[in-house]
Amino acid sequence: MERLSLEEVVAEAREALGSDLLILAHHYQRDEIVEAADCRGDSLELSRKAAASEARWIVFCGVHFMAETAAILAKDGQRVLIPRVDAGCFLAHTVDYPSLVELWRRLGEVMDPDAEVLPVAYVNTTADVKAFVGKKGGACCTSSSAEAVLRWAFSQRYKVLFVPDQYLGRNTARRLGIPEEEIAVWDPRRPPDRMDTFARARLILWRGTCNVHVRFLPEDVRRAREEHPGVRVVVHPECRPEVVELADEVGSTSYIIETVSSSPPGSIWAVGTEERLVARLAKENPDKEIFSLAEVPPFCSYMSLTRPGDLAAVLEGLLEDKAENVVEVPPEIRAPAREALERMLAITRR
Ligand code: SF4
Repeated sequence: MERLSLEEVVAEAREALGSDLLILAHHYQRDEIVEAADCRGDSLELSRKAAASEARWIVFCGVHFMAETAAILAKDGQRVLIPRVDAGCFLAHTVDYPSLVELWRRLGEVMDPDAEVLPVAYVNTTADVKAFVGKKGGACCTSSSAEAVLRWAFSQRYKVLFVPDQYLGRNTARRLGIPEEEIAVWDPRRPPDRMDTFARARLILWRGTCNVHVRFLPEDVRRAREEHPGVRVVVHPECRPEVVELADEVGSTSYIIETVSSSPPGSIWAVGTEERLVARLAKENPDKEIFSLAEVPPFCSYMSLTRPGDLAAVLEGLLEDKAENVVEVPPEIRAPAREALERMLAITRR
């Protein structure tokens, strides 16, 4: 039997399911996937879209924690499907529930963590990590809401634990004016014998990084400036603080898109984020010179897993009344994880 193209399957699914179908795609997805989606966005935009949608089927083209977040926020009767269940995230894999419980136990040696520390989880975490944070009264954040959420967290407690992106945590701490000596980094693979540093710290960071954004180095910024006079450098806040310090602009994926797209014709941009997004920005802004900040542009291999055939297979399943790759979150995890996410949405709505 002749196989239909992704475009044909999408058209058929839209025709059959109408407003019961919503296809979301993250900016780092392949072009064919982004073009097939109803909406593209970064994590915050997509979680807002998912939360506001009435569609019965939400097909989430991104990585697993994003689809899980949509499933946590979904209304009764809504189901979230992911074309590739194996699409993980290097950063999200650096923290899990047992290692968070262990940190809390160790903090208990020098303080009462339940009374003194408020946890904040970047959305790039599994549902059970979000649930831990929700149970302790904390909130989630995205790269665009990290500053507002951390500010809120410090208004609630004297100490804050931020997981798992140490660079996003440190870059945000700098914007809030938290001095270096008040920051401590917890390495779950090499826990210290003594907890004195953590007793003194105001901000405790988890030792996690994104494999993509960690690749940008200070020498990349210097080289871009030497080779491209007049260049502006814009980077994501998951980049190393040394890189963020040298950049002209720092912000979330949406901020990067907005800043570059709205710049005058002839502008030159070196962009420190995932390569697929940089290449699309260059294609959509032919009146500007746009390129990756790195010599070897890094791309996210997990985001690249979703191919047109994977999205088509999920949609064909729906057309045959078979929901495949449904993302399920057990109710005892979903409720506290949702609390943490709703706190974030409430803080960013203010
Ligand atoms: S780019 Fe980094 S943070 Fe985003 S999904 Fe890939 S590994 Fe995770």
